[in-house]
Amino acid sequence: NYRCRSAFKLLEIDDKYHLMQPGYTVIDCGAAPGSWTQVAVERTNANGKQEKKPLGSVISIDLLHFHAVPGAVIYGGMDFTSAVAQQRLKESLAGRRVNCVLSDMAPNATGVRMLDQESITNLCYEVLRFALAMSGPDANLVVKVWDNGDVPKLEKTMLQHYEKVKRVKPRASRGDSAEHFLVARGFRGT
Ligand code: SAM
Repeated sequence: NYRCRSAFKLLEIDDKYHLMQPGYTVIDCGAAPGSWTQVAVERTNANGKQEKKPLGSVISIDLLHFHAVPGAVIYGGMDFTSAVAQQRLKESLAGRRVNCVLSDMAPNATGVRMLDQESITNLCYEVLRFALAMSGPDANLVVKVWDNGDVPKLEKTMLQHYEKVKRVKPRASRGDSAEHFLVARGFRGT
């Protein structure tokens, strides 16, 4: 049972693009209440349920506190963009390279369209910067965006570092007209 229906967006994206597999190390940004983390734990085998498969690891972070997800390391009450959070994530990786970075982060909407779009785009750049610093070869990245004029530039920046970048609108996102995801595969290294 997933904690919220957002899970189905990630399941659909991962079924199509195969971003996670047993043994992978995944960072989940903006993870509360935890349904993407649940999916990531299953797909990476971070809970060891698939006995003969490699054990993955999932590290999740959110501004909000949320309940533990067995198999994941959770940092609640933390701003991903803060220096403290970046340090904490780095420490818990302990030198391991990340195979997949996920971000379903969205700022609290002010209702002022331009401001909201700017803040979600800024979050995407923060996630991208983190991914570039921490990813291993061939790593993948998913970021949530709200459709706006800044997205093509973000997409272009991602394409400089990843083999493929796709704009994806999962069926489960249909109710939210502006929301879609940029899925980047095949990190080339910096
Ligand atoms: N993927 C989650 C799931 O499936 O359960 C749902 C995520 S929800 C749509 C977006 C989350 O992003 C919120 O919980 C919010 O607190 C978080 N968020 C927004 N800005 C953040 C930031 N700067 N650092 C950490 N989390 C942030």
